Amino acid sequence: MATVVAPSSSQVSSVPVPLLDLKAQFAPIRQEIIAAVTAVLESQQFILGPVVSECEARIAEYCGCRHGVGVSSGTDALLLALMAEQIGPGDEVITTPYTFFATAGSIARVGAKPVFVDILPDTFNIDPAQIEAKITPATKAIMPVHLYGQCADMDPILRLAEKHGLTIIEDAAQAIGAEYRGRRAGSMGKYGCFSFFPSKNLGCAGDGGMVTCSDSEAAELLQVLRVHGSKPKYYHSMIGGNFRFDAIQAAVINAKLPYLDRWSQMRQANASRYRRLFAEAGLIGTGCVQLPVEAPHRRHIYNQFVIRAARRDELVAHLRTRNIGVEIYYPVPLHLQECFAYLGHRPGEFPVSESAARETLALPIYPELTDAQAESAVEAVRSFYEINGAD
Ligand SMILES: *Cc1c(COP(=O)(O)O)cnc(C)c1O
Repeated sequence: MATVVAPSSSQVSSVPVPLLDLKAQFAPIRQEIIAAVTAVLESQQFILGPVVSECEARIAEYCGCRHGVGVSSGTDALLLALMAEQIGPGDEVITTPYTFFATAGSIARVGAKPVFVDILPDTFNIDPAQIEAKITPATKAIMPVHLYGQCADMDPILRLAEKHGLTIIEDAAQAIGAEYRGRRAGSMGKYGCFSFFPSKNLGCAGDGGMVTCSDSEAAELLQVLRVHGSKPKYYHSMIGGNFRFDAIQAAVINAKLPYLDRWSQMRQANASRYRRLFAEAGLIGTGCVQLPVEAPHRRHIYNQFVIRAARRDELVAHLRTRNIGVEIYYPVPLHLQECFAYLGHRPGEFPVSESAARETLALPIYPELTDAQAESAVEAVRSFYEINGAD
């Protein structure tokens, strides 16, 4: 393509670029992590306990909430919040079809019906203007997702929830530390659900998660439901589950939390560098790629850097042969998943989600990504369009 600029000599070399490099994160902090884990081993107190309580208090504070309830995963955080609201068969929960499976999966698992609302094409987050039409007498909650580390447009969603008496459960699994008009992800709805899965911005050494909330009664209910609804011990006035958080995982989170803001800044710097490199490569405004949009009044923490690309599947194959780690989040929107066939949705029903699923890919954005790696990734994209064009 004529519009695509030839590479400068510094950009020609091909450096392998993993999608995520957790070893690079671990190396400089390994002593602290090992000390924190060792202290738990010495204590032999593995389930809940003081290290978990400390983690809950610190995450709650970081997220601008009064309470944190540590749980076994981000998925279980969503499930527990739904259970605390006694959402079940006959109830509807409004959410987006363009998210990780757990969002709608948890709604279905409590027996409620996931009701989908399409996304906005720029942020990939739920379109608030389409929500009200989906509210019925059965609607109990709205579950917005702060996808890729950027908050959904929460003010209109909060207004709708207030008007219709609905609970907001934020799926903030990808958005710890993200902000919307100065408010932290997880602090705007009644519940904020976080994941410490290793690939999230704050990951533990296995599975873990947290529900944040500022309502003390709800927090207490979450704590009881987390241990089979047991209160006092072995007396069950309700049915909960085992959603407990491990002390070893909490210790890892406690050790990593002081670094989170720096890592988020490094991710933001990587995003800025990509913007510069894509512009320098002449790839902007050519119909080849569209870079992520930062909506106003947001702090985007870039869990993912997701671009729209012409000829996406060919580009992905091209990048993979050049050792550039890329991923598609997500190739099939949830309304078209086989397990949700009973909902009766058809292709074309949520066109913005469907086009996002067809056209987007994530490039490596992890904090330790080097200049050479970013250049290598952009150069690989440039070379694809130089050979193939945009259409
Ligand atoms: C990761 C993720 C979850 C689930 O978290 P797990 O800890 O893997 O159970 C839920 N929702 C979204 C949007 C996620 O990205």
